[in-house]
Amino acid sequence: MTVETKKETYLNYVNGAWVASASGETKPSLNPANVNDVVGYVQMSTKEEVDQAVTQAKIAQKAWKKLSGNDRGAFLYKAADVLESRLDEIAECMTREMGKTFPEAKGETARGIAILRYYAGEGLRKVGDVIPSTDSKALMFTSRVPLGVVGVITPWNFPVAIPIWKMAPALVYGNAIVLKPAQETAVTAAKVIECFEQAGFPPGIVNLVTGSGSVIGQALTDHPDVNGITFTGSNGVGKGIGQGCLARGAKYQLEMGGKNPVIVAADADIDLAVESTIAGAFRSTGQKCTATSRVIIEAAVYETFKEKLLAKTAEITIGNGLEEGIWMGPSASEGQLNTVLHYIEKGKEEGATLLAGGNCVTGEGYDDGYFVEPTIFDNVTSDMTIAQEEIFGPVIALIQVNNLEDALTIANDVEFGLSASIFTSNIQSMLSFVEDMEAGLIRINSESAGVELQAPFGGMKQSSSHSREQGEAAKEFFTSIKTVFVK
Ligand code: NAD
Repeated sequence: MTVETKKETYLNYVNGAWVASASGETKPSLNPANVNDVVGYVQMSTKEEVDQAVTQAKIAQKAWKKLSGNDRGAFLYKAADVLESRLDEIAECMTREMGKTFPEAKGETARGIAILRYYAGEGLRKVGDVIPSTDSKALMFTSRVPLGVVGVITPWNFPVAIPIWKMAPALVYGNAIVLKPAQETAVTAAKVIECFEQAGFPPGIVNLVTGSGSVIGQALTDHPDVNGITFTGSNGVGKGIGQGCLARGAKYQLEMGGKNPVIVAADADIDLAVESTIAGAFRSTGQKCTATSRVIIEAAVYETFKEKLLAKTAEITIGNGLEEGIWMGPSASEGQLNTVLHYIEKGKEEGATLLAGGNCVTGEGYDDGYFVEPTIFDNVTSDMTIAQEEIFGPVIALIQVNNLEDALTIANDVEFGLSASIFTSNIQSMLSFVEDMEAGLIRINSESAGVELQAPFGGMKQSSSHSREQGEAAKEFFTSIKTVFVK
């Protein structure tokens, strides 16, 4: 694969036009596999530019909401076709900008296409219910209406799929959107928005403003004409957005961190558990909100599981995700790498045993990137920092337990509740897990990461504001219900 060398400047997209920020400031977006490779320059926009985008979105939404759902869906079908025609180019950009391997980036882009098509069809599905009235002469029904302008604030780890799984339902239900993507992946975001432009959306319906979270994200959160914010990112930022929206009565949806456990029961298919743990923990360099970060194993199979896990981990090939045969790319940024290294040190200081990894990968082809080894800690107890806090890197903590009751207690002993897996062949153990595990995504004999796009996605506890994204569930956030009584 040839790496694109042109250093383009990417602009904001407001009211159907590509515009530079009045700040005159741009920032380079760097390839984390080789920081000498500048993927592009992106705008460092101002609060005033958020205001302009929101104002235009508000005006445009008035006509957009009058279209039939079917007509709005037709634009999404076109966006899907354009994205499909640019799949390789956009996936390559994603790999260059945040490091996940090219096959994974292609898979994510394909997912974006499928989400667009799913929500395009949503334009023809029901948006209300008839409710029997106690008055036999009356008709009572609900109708769902769009919120108006929705602010979309997204992280860097799924730079195509996450913006699309927010924008597609927002748009099909009749909202206009302003996207503020993570700074680290703003070039990929600009390319996604180009697909919407090519699909012919009316000016003002889809807008992009890039820049720092504390300026642009905050301005969207505080803007009186933004009727809802859909956010995915870290806990600290999410809570601030929630408070800001609450203060002015705007709707908000927060999808945040995880500390996802895998339980391996004594009766598990150990090879499957090992393979799924490796995929869940180390794919995308552990930078998934649903990544496996704790593995809680019954004592009877602890040594066998550990041995097989170590052997498989040793086979992982690390490098630039655009190269053939690479299984794991770099951390997405210097900050992310430093966070991972900080937690590795913390694990050692608190008495966990480093079983594998723990270091940066160095040498030719690695020194200009943010490469870190897949890392496994043994003898971890649930009170240790590495068993409690989200690391967002390729680090797993192994915890030994005597029975499944203890495993479940430890699995729930964190502030997060996003995804959780169990590997077992016993139906009662599966059912207890479904009943007692405090997580929004319950996975049985399957890795903790990943949910099909038509199913509700979201967490419990501190992982989420408890709404759900994806599938039909997205309707709940992106619309308001009107209850109508006719007599
Ligand atoms: P982040 O919270 O740093 O940033 C997310 C977005 O918020 C970015 O666009 C950022 O610019 C913006 N932002 C930053 N400060 C802001 C502010 N004051 N006001 C408004 N917006 C602001 O998160 P990140 O580092 O980009 O992503 C990693 C995090 O995302 C991890 O915690 C991960 O678990 C989480 N995540 C969660 C899910 C999920 O669905 N639950 C999915 C993917 C990632």
